[in-house]
Amino acid sequence: MSVQLKISFAKSSSVAASLAIQLKLSGDQPASGSSEADPQGVGTRAAEIAKFSAKTMTVLDVIAPHGSDADRLMVIGLGKPDALIAHDWLRAGGVAAANLKTAKKAVVFLDVPGLEVTAAQAADFALGMLLRSYAFDTYKTAKKDDDKPASVDVKIVMAGHAAAKKAFATSDAIAGGVILARDLVNLPPNVLGPVEFAEKAKELKALGVEVEVLTENEMKKLGMGALLGVAQGSVRPPRLAVMHWNGGKAKDKPVAFVGKGVVFDTGGISIKPGAGMEDMKGDMGGAAAVIGLMHTLAARKAKVNAVGILGLVENMPDGNAQRPGDIVTSMSGQTIEIINTDAEGRLVLADALFYTKERFKPRFMVNLATLTGAIVVALGNVHAGLFSNDDTLAAQLTAAGEVTSEKLWRMPLAKEYDKIIDSRFADMKNSGGRPAGSITAAQFLKRYVGDTPWAHLDIAATAMNSPQTEINTSWASGYGVRLLDELVRANYEG
Ligand code: MN
Ligand code: ZN
Repeated sequence: MSVQLKISFAKSSSVAASLAIQLKLSGDQPASGSSEADPQGVGTRAAEIAKFSAKTMTVLDVIAPHGSDADRLMVIGLGKPDALIAHDWLRAGGVAAANLKTAKKAVVFLDVPGLEVTAAQAADFALGMLLRSYAFDTYKTAKKDDDKPASVDVKIVMAGHAAAKKAFATSDAIAGGVILARDLVNLPPNVLGPVEFAEKAKELKALGVEVEVLTENEMKKLGMGALLGVAQGSVRPPRLAVMHWNGGKAKDKPVAFVGKGVVFDTGGISIKPGAGMEDMKGDMGGAAAVIGLMHTLAARKAKVNAVGILGLVENMPDGNAQRPGDIVTSMSGQTIEIINTDAEGRLVLADALFYTKERFKPRFMVNLATLTGAIVVALGNVHAGLFSNDDTLAAQLTAAGEVTSEKLWRMPLAKEYDKIIDSRFADMKNSGGRPAGSITAAQFLKRYVGDTPWAHLDIAATAMNSPQTEINTSWASGYGVRLLDELVRANYEG
């Protein structure tokens, strides 16, 4: 069950809470002894008796003795100080949130003996708590009675509480974006069609985002034959959502993010096997990351001009569906022979990228897409695939991924791969077959971006079916929101 956390920051607190949490480094750190967190020194004594060595993300959880103000005392290990990285603060917050159990009120003492905890680290800890508290349980009508409270008051106590509170506003904005992305990916495809997804984009107006939604007819006028060809087999019409966040100077060119939003991918006439097809409700994970990012940028009032473009379609087999052998004309004028109707994401992105490039002349374009099964084979769910025509942008993205632990691995682009998608009948074909399947998909996209600095993130393995981590136990990870927010924050603001 989703637990709502009400997080506040304070300079000091009595431990009059159901749970008192402390963090501890491993190795020879000064013993905290009796402190504000643990007036009777119970934690110190329990750690000694249990030989708790505070290895990273380990937990010591003890019942407080009779007469204590807290019911439970928890110590979370941070491991050795020199091995501690930024992402560990999110993980520690996640561990804390996972162990709240029946607590209605928790106090976290963040002043770690032997460590100066910064405002950013405290904000990351709080972000980890928020992300771990998420669960998608909208459709669980018979809720388990597990004694968990619906909301928990969490007070974070530290010397630099005022700065931490300020930094937490950013964490809150990021959590909102990640959770929006997770919710959209988790939602069933009968509920979330292209029209409904575009309505979700419109909800960002409340945060000051300008939103336009292009209908099928408007896309027809623009000549988006590649995107429309995918959509024609579905009774649900396509949409192209365009979101603008204007937080920078009026003259500044925007940065642009483009998401593949195939709300359900059957494969079309080249229909997929039945086993596991239900996962294809997540084929809009790229669009979910882009709308989540736009939420975050607006909620934290990022000093940047950004546009987010969502290509929203459903890929269905039908009497009107497109066939292998069809030739469609994209908005760019380039023609495409359809070899495999299941290689539909690149068709949607071809028109969305070209539209973005022509209309906005952006500083760069990053597209996100659950594009190929081949990237799952190549990289598993550890790294997402990164393809780029620009070394600077690629390096910035890779560095951002290291910070947020949404790791990227750069894959090659080359003329030799590009040849594989030349067609006998049209300018190109939409599939080059199995060899280098994720690379030929990227080569296809590259034909629509011109000279604009561009990167394509293939997130087929990282957006959904996610491994359980300290900060996520949901099927959908919300991959990409924190990564791209970090990209913007570190390189494109101010
Ligand atoms: Mn497909
Ligand atoms: Zn797809």
